[in-house]
Amino acid sequence: RAKQQGRATYQVFDTGLDREIQAREASRQRFATALPEGELRLHYQPQVDIFGGEVIGAEALVRWQHPEEGLLAPGRFLPIIEGTALEIELGEWVIEAALRQLQAWCMQGISLPVHVNISPAHLLSGEFAERLAGLLTCYPEVPARLLKLEVVESAAIHDIQTALSVMRHCQALEIDFAIDDFGTGYSSLTHLRQLPVDLIKIDQSFVRDMLTDPDDMAIVESVIYMANRFRRPMLAEGVETLDHARALLALGCARVQGYGIARPMPAEDFPAWLRDWPGRHEWSALAMHLQK
Ligand code: C2E
Ligand code: MG
Ligand code: MG
Ligand code: MG
Repeated sequence: RAKQQGRATYQVFDTGLDREIQAREASRQRFATALPEGELRLHYQPQVDIFGGEVIGAEALVRWQHPEEGLLAPGRFLPIIEGTALEIELGEWVIEAALRQLQAWCMQGISLPVHVNISPAHLLSGEFAERLAGLLTCYPEVPARLLKLEVVESAAIHDIQTALSVMRHCQALEIDFAIDDFGTGYSSLTHLRQLPVDLIKIDQSFVRDMLTDPDDMAIVESVIYMANRFRRPMLAEGVETLDHARALLALGCARVQGYGIARPMPAEDFPAWLRDWPGRHEWSALAMHLQK
């Protein structure tokens, strides 16, 4: 009887696990068709300098336009493909799509840097820089310096020597790097010194609560101090309100990105947003206050 019960329990557990593995595999296979079916999209979120009031770039963020489930954020599908060949395939698609968009904007007279997120596995995949160089030659009208790459700290820490050589190779192509989600990884200080990084992005988790949580405020202050000491430009993510922007500006961080300025939007909407931005007086007034 006990044996029977044991078996029954085992079977229930087994079926549950099976189902989960099968569901994951099914999503992965479904995602594999998303690329050839043209269901992936890039949305663009503006990055602005609130001191000068100008738009300084846009971050490309991938979405999956799922025919049944609607527009899916990367959190819904990136974890499923992590560690598979699809991760690299997606990464290459994103770079090419960004270059295509850059070319379209250049032809419309919009010359704006576009930041692309690069997964650690993609960066360290062995032929990253060579393939990037190849892609760049397919878009000769796009100045390479308009393409920027965002990598999280862990990408570099995993294999610092490889990361360094890939990044240097990319720099030779005039491609700059930003460290994304700065402060959430390990040994930030050492890596800041070693890595050829041209922008430090302060993670939104610290920015979000900086006005209410003294610990988060301390982290934001430290990152800004450090970035200044290392003479690296910085940008704060997750700026949702004018109060956040005001506080960041007072601390010396003028470059910001967040829902308070604009949510990520389809490329088609970007030119209209660019035209309307100078009219957002509440944001330009921030800096005028400071200059007085
Ligand atoms: P990330 O690179 O740190 O991008 C910022 C995320 O914060 C984006 O989420 C953006 O929509 C969101 N965000 C921007 N402003 C605010 C704000 O004011 N408040 C809040 N609460 N959120 C804000 P998203 O698009 O869901 O992307 C999540 C992450 O997925 C990205 O974080 C990045 O790590 C990854 N990701 C996105 N696109 C790509 C891609 O094309 N390739 C790769 N490898 N990763 C990507
Ligand atoms: Mg990013
Ligand atoms: Mg980030
Ligand atoms: Mg993030």
